[in-house]
Amino acid sequence: MSFDLHRPATVTEAIDLAQRFAPTARYVAGGTDTVIQINRKKIDPAHLIDVACLPGLSEITETADAFTLGALTKYRSVETHPAFQGDLRMLLEAASVVGGHQVRNIATIGGNIVNASPAADFVPPLLALDASLDITGPTGRRSVALRDFIIGPGRTHLSPVEIVTSIRFAKLPARSATAFLKEGRRRAMEISVVCVAACLTLEASTSRCASVRLAIGAASPKAFRPEQAEGYLIGKPAGKESFAEAGRLAAEASSPISDVRASAGYRRGLVAVMVERALTTCLQRIREQNQ
Ligand SMILES: Cc1cc2nc3c(=O)[nH]c(=O)nc-3n(C[C@H](O)[C@H](O)[C@H](O)COP(=O)(O)OP(=O)(O)OC[C@H]3O[C@@H](n4cnc5c(N)ncnc54)[C@H](O)[C@@H]3O)c2cc1C
Repeated sequence: MSFDLHRPATVTEAIDLAQRFAPTARYVAGGTDTVIQINRKKIDPAHLIDVACLPGLSEITETADAFTLGALTKYRSVETHPAFQGDLRMLLEAASVVGGHQVRNIATIGGNIVNASPAADFVPPLLALDASLDITGPTGRRSVALRDFIIGPGRTHLSPVEIVTSIRFAKLPARSATAFLKEGRRRAMEISVVCVAACLTLEASTSRCASVRLAIGAASPKAFRPEQAEGYLIGKPAGKESFAEAGRLAAEASSPISDVRASAGYRRGLVAVMVERALTTCLQRIREQNQ
């Protein structure tokens, strides 16, 4: 393993370096995915461009109707941010199960998205929030929906010289709650066998579902939204029967693989159970908020 390490001071400088050393350059933030890929000889970059210290990309900002997370935000910052203790709790729950403390203190959410693992834990909650990515490249800025950004395992619509700068999503309406569940072979330091993010909003004065957004990780080549399950729930009474049916529909929409961690059949069964459980947790949380 041999590479030159560059420490640009600005996004523009980072992009200039990436262009100068293309195609043998690679951005690195926390390095927790990149170093493993280098060690396993999956990649062999001659130049690593360290973006971890670029100014202004690690902040979590809140406006009246939206949140923006800098791409270099670390899981530790999400876990401890007061804004994610309430209706956006799934972000805290996803952040707090990524690796161990050392990983969460250094790894970034932007790295999780760009790495595009089907089992990436922070992608489903952002997908369930309809998040968009802000991207800067040599010709300027663009914005892309997260659901269009990841193409498949390890593949995205990012060119090698572009930098993801932030992730944006709208706040939730009243009577909303979220939940994230992860199932791994061990409790800690383990990638997901399946993970589920759920975002439920009830109608203003009934216990019927007004809006449901679900996202499932590690059960298909990329995290996905089971649209039939989401659509089925609209207008239905929130409760065991309808949540179980949504779980069944979500399992039907998944296309898991069998690997050393679990069989495809087991994963599909997990999807059904975990979707039902995540929605039940959301419902409990809405009730608690409104007591
Ligand atoms: C021990 C261990 C346990 C782990 N456990 C989990 C887990 O439980 N769940 C989970 O989801 N992941 C886990 N991971 C994977 C990893 O920690 C996460 O995916 C992490 O979020 C990657 O972030 P990073 O900043 O370290 O990425 P890096 O390794 O720095 O970068 C990853 C990729 O993203 C690109 N990149 C990074 N930032 C940007 C940017 N701003 N713009 C453009 N490109 C960028 C890099 O070029 C590289 O291709 C684990 C890793 C380790 C080592």
